[in-house]
Amino acid sequence: MATVTLAEIEDAARRIAPHIAQTPLLPSVTLSERLGVPVHLKLETRQTTGSFKLRGATNALLQLTADEREAGVVCVSTGNHGRALAHASAEAGIRCVVAMSRLVPENKVAAIREAGAEVLIAGHSQDEAQHEADRLTLEGLTMIPPFDHPDVIAGQGTIGLEIAEALPEVASVVVPLSGGGLIAGVAAALKPFSSAVRVVGVSMTRGAAMQASLAAGRPVEVEEVETLADSLGGGIGLANAHSFAMVRDLVDEVVLLSEAEIAAGIRHCHREEGEVVEGAGAVGVAAILSGRIEAEGPVAVVVSGRNIDAHLHRRVVEGRYLTETA
Ligand SMILES: *Cc1c(COP(=O)(O)O)cnc(C)c1O
Repeated sequence: MATVTLAEIEDAARRIAPHIAQTPLLPSVTLSERLGVPVHLKLETRQTTGSFKLRGATNALLQLTADEREAGVVCVSTGNHGRALAHASAEAGIRCVVAMSRLVPENKVAAIREAGAEVLIAGHSQDEAQHEADRLTLEGLTMIPPFDHPDVIAGQGTIGLEIAEALPEVASVVVPLSGGGLIAGVAAALKPFSSAVRVVGVSMTRGAAMQASLAAGRPVEVEEVETLADSLGGGIGLANAHSFAMVRDLVDEVVLLSEAEIAAGIRHCHREEGEVVEGAGAVGVAAILSGRIEAEGPVAVVVSGRNIDAHLHRRVVEGRYLTETA
């Protein structure tokens, strides 16, 4: 089993530095008071393309051979990875095709087209979109997956390096968890500095594929359902080769949240922190608000993205979302 090393993450940091935004790690006064220990927010909401996914996508693209660059890349994405790969590919002058399911919100589809990629709408699940993308690799395009790839994991891990640099005494990190590329990279970056750092993953109760897989001891499928944390939707892949094992070996705990708790996280980020944050990005904050994170501080929370439909965001912030959908 190939795992991602600290050295690979350090290489990734040097490689992607000219292409990504510097994101701040800011203290949260209200969350620190609430938890009784310092809480800091790593704001990947401020990352170019609106999520951390640009890190992994860029690290993978920059390692393609000349022939691979010439032929182009393809990915399957619930939105943010596709948007990131589209942006990074356009910058590098590489053809990019993004396959996605019909569940993906329209704002994300439009953003990917605007970034210059070709969008391929295929099926009702990420797995069906995957089949279409696989077909394109037979035509010579290189697949850049959203999480289960060493270069992608190393790219996401650069967030862990930045946290360690800015907050060397960090005791816990709270990280949104879907396919596990983000948390695997962050854990691989932080654990070599201090094996005592607690790494906590947060998913939604509705369709938590990694949690179900950890419980089963192997990758399993879960039904894909709509959730406020839409960027956490989708499976981990039955043939998962990297992220599942890394999460199993490096992550200390997984917390699951209800839709109401995720909504409260989005609301808190807007009212108290002044940040527009999408559901997936707000689950770390939501986990603290829910009282399910132990007070081992300082805590760093990865706030992973901001790409939420403006109308949906308004409904959530005004407290109308759950009453309308219940
Ligand atoms: C992709 C994504 C995640 C989850 O990352 P994984 O590597 O799949 O675990 C969390 N938040 C946002 C905003 C994302 O786009």
